[in-house]
Amino acid sequence: MSLIYNDSRIYCSDTPFDPNNINTNLTFPLSHLFFCPICQEPRATHQTSYDIESKFCANCLTDYSNNKNLTHCIKNCFECPDCHANLSITMTDHDNKGKSFNFNCVYCEYSYVTSVIYKPKSLHAIVDDEKRANPDSFHQLCDAIRKGVLGPEEEKSPVSKNIELMLQQTRRQEQTPTPPTELDLTIKSYPQARKLTTKTSHRCCKCHNLVLAYANDKTQPTINKFAVKFSAVDYLPTISISNLFNGEKFSSQVLKKWNGTTILMIHLINPMSVKCTVNISIPSSYNVAPEVNCKITIPLNQVTLGPTSTNLIKTIPSCFLTSNTPTGKRELILRKGDVMHKPPASFEEVEENLNNFVERGINWYSIPVIINLDGSNTFNFRLPVYITLKSELPDVLKKIPGHDALSVGYWNVIDLGSVSLV
Ligand SMILES: [Zn+2]
Ligand SMILES: [Zn+2]
Ligand SMILES: [Zn+2]
Repeated sequence: MSLIYNDSRIYCSDTPFDPNNINTNLTFPLSHLFFCPICQEPRATHQTSYDIESKFCANCLTDYSNNKNLTHCIKNCFECPDCHANLSITMTDHDNKGKSFNFNCVYCEYSYVTSVIYKPKSLHAIVDDEKRANPDSFHQLCDAIRKGVLGPEEEKSPVSKNIELMLQQTRRQEQTPTPPTELDLTIKSYPQARKLTTKTSHRCCKCHNLVLAYANDKTQPTINKFAVKFSAVDYLPTISISNLFNGEKFSSQVLKKWNGTTILMIHLINPMSVKCTVNISIPSSYNVAPEVNCKITIPLNQVTLGPTSTNLIKTIPSCFLTSNTPTGKRELILRKGDVMHKPPASFEEVEENLNNFVERGINWYSIPVIINLDGSNTFNFRLPVYITLKSELPDVLKKIPGHDALSVGYWNVIDLGSVSLV
């Protein structure tokens, strides 16, 4: 069901959402989000503050929880700068009791040989000295950042600082890599000390309530047990799209072929053990792209989703069931009879009987949506949907003071991919 998480993202920011100008840097897959039970809102990582509860080296399993300032293993744990695999270390003897050290990646071609050392020094000190004398491009960049970006600046809120760092990272990822300069080629990259693995607890920036905390077991720092865990995926419905049952697999090609009109299914799946009512609103005045008119028809705006079940197959909307496994096929026959062997309904058929194509299961609803696009442009088609969710409190939330029901509202952005209209 991984696709489910990829085509639908939730807007998380204190800046009001603008459907005509969607900032995709501030939309996140449901599975990446926390849920603050006090604010009753989804929370992205940048909207939380964190504390490091414990840290350890995943290679030698040394516990570094009490060493506040360490971020890397100080034992002889080194990793490859190219592929992050372990480096094996061997020593070569030289004249006058000199020694040099060879680092070889256990996975790729990377290798590094230190200069000849005559006085005992730790491996870290040897590599650091050589790095300082001849910085590689990465450390040149680090110096630039230290002088520039991390220079003195006015006080900023933790949230805006987090957003800034996040945007910097995205920009870096989007940039096409520049070909290495002559300097880069002459300077080899250095063995890297292994980064420590950390366990961090997170608090909502607004109310400072814990949304994630590990059970503190100092004797077993490598075991993950949660003391507090509020993940959005446990409370908010999964929203996803697909083609019609039996229909042609959805792609932007379909939009093209149908001359700008297509029918999709929107699926809503309740993850909670209590039933919930979900309201779906699509903004009426919404500019999909310049010079494109968009008309969206949805047969119902409010649905009640039943509680989820341990009988997994019943929680999967028919459009996502496969007939390739005996269990899937049996369930499909049970739900659809021989419809599954018939050709998909024609566009006119669906348009005239839109309500008949609404389908519901124990904890889900599938709703057909007619999308009509008119104009000429090539654009990324994103459909913003405002979701309001109401339910009684699931058992886990009953212990949290302040609310006697669950009531959440948020923007969900469905990504329909790139569309060309000509
Ligand atoms: Zn280590
Ligand atoms: Zn390597
Ligand atoms: Zn909160």
